[in-house]
Amino acid sequence: MTIDFSKIKTLIVDMDNTLCDTFHTLSKPQWGKVEEALEAKGWGAYAALLKENFGKHGFKHTLEHSDMSEEQIKYALSVYEKVDVAPLELFADAHDILDVDIPKILLSRGEPTHQQNKIEHLDLAQYFEKIRIVDTFHTKTDAIKEIIGDSDPKAFLIIGDRIEEEIADGKLLGIPTVLVRRPDWPVAESDVVPDMVVSSLKSVKEKLKL
Ligand SMILES: [Mg+2]
Repeated sequence: MTIDFSKIKTLIVDMDNTLCDTFHTLSKPQWGKVEEALEAKGWGAYAALLKENFGKHGFKHTLEHSDMSEEQIKYALSVYEKVDVAPLELFADAHDILDVDIPKILLSRGEPTHQQNKIEHLDLAQYFEKIRIVDTFHTKTDAIKEIIGDSDPKAFLIIGDRIEEEIADGKLLGIPTVLVRRPDWPVAESDVVPDMVVSSLKSVKEKLKL
């Protein structure tokens, strides 16, 4: 689908690895803390599994595709989510979207308190009409459905880094999508084809201004 940028009235923007460099500035300390915690519990094999998957798969994906018990997964997530968000930084191009004069909704998945801490640390609330956080083990699909309601899906634009999440949801719901590719951050294998692929949010800003 070719995006008709003149129709876009609302941006639905993902946070982690779209606006902020979670992978380089936060994930490394987070994965490290979880590895230490798992080792301390005597679950060193899972610590090794995390080491192996870092930079290849997301944290939740790694846990879910291991044979960890539900209790072990909960424990790993609780350690992950307690790590201080202070090192987290916006990408240099984040303001190309944050400052664009179109209403925006921030849509993020993760443990709500942890995600809220990131939003406060980055001072992001001021740029958004609405903030929707969906819990770690939920998909973004229902939240996106709620956001569009009875409106024309083509009046929205989804901007995100996860082809298997917000981009797949956009395809399913007929909403135009932009996949943002970030350095070292892998894009999952998927049959989904984004409507536009960019390596900088500046390219999206330029289209929106036309
Ligand atoms: Mg993301």
